[in-house]
Amino acid sequence: KANRKFHPDDSVINVGGALIGGGHFAVMAGPCSVETPEQVIETAKACKEAGATILRGGAFKPRTSPYSFQGMGPEGLELLELAKKETGLPIVSEVMDISQLQYFDNVDMLQIGARNMQNFTLLKEVGKLNKPILLKRGLSSTYEEWLMAAEYIMSEGNEQVVLCERGIRTFETKTRNTLDVTAIPMMHELSHLPIIMDPSHAAGMSRMVRPLSLASVGGGADGLMIEVHNDPSKALCDGPQALRPDQFTSLMKEVIALRQAL
Ligand code: PEP
Ligand code: MN
Repeated sequence: KANRKFHPDDSVINVGGALIGGGHFAVMAGPCSVETPEQVIETAKACKEAGATILRGGAFKPRTSPYSFQGMGPEGLELLELAKKETGLPIVSEVMDISQLQYFDNVDMLQIGARNMQNFTLLKEVGKLNKPILLKRGLSSTYEEWLMAAEYIMSEGNEQVVLCERGIRTFETKTRNTLDVTAIPMMHELSHLPIIMDPSHAAGMSRMVRPLSLASVGGGADGLMIEVHNDPSKALCDGPQALRPDQFTSLMKEVIALRQAL
């Protein structure tokens, strides 16, 4: 169902009014995790102002260490909904397992994180929903495995899938992951599904987000996911890779100009 052969036209996915694919470009921006009402609302307003089309924010966080901040849970989703009311931006947030799905009724797009790309039970369950799914590429997954994960969702009836390249694990250790820009033309060739790029989790450092974003736009991506925090030094998760609102604003100007030049 994800195969371009049987579906020559680009899919266009509608996330609460924000379109992705077939020439429509989406920018998902916001904090790694929802932390406080002030943090999420201040950040959301700045993202909207700069031109983001979707607000991101994690309430359930898949942290490497069980002793790290695990997210605010259902309360975090409520704050995200509040930020949606304040800004009008649709929201995307990660669901880590089936038991959490009950809290996501008012979330516009569900994110399947890299670590869950092959959680087939979860994929089948979100495949039964009528809601767009953001499917992140697994840390060491091939294109074929990634597309098969999309098939798990689509074969249950939900064809609203957006792919997200967020960097893969390679032999390089200077960066958190290696952003695979080849995924853009390759996925466009193999599939009709939109593909967006997440330079924040790929690089792991804020100063690399701009060049990787511009490379992604130049490479034909259907959108970007960028972590933005109103005060990155105080972030409870992924602070080193978060852009400040002013950095995000200037990046957006360049992204828009580059898209116009393409
Ligand atoms: C995230 O988007 O905050 C996240 C945890 O992403 P990934 O699953 O790509 O690591
Ligand atoms: Mn993060």
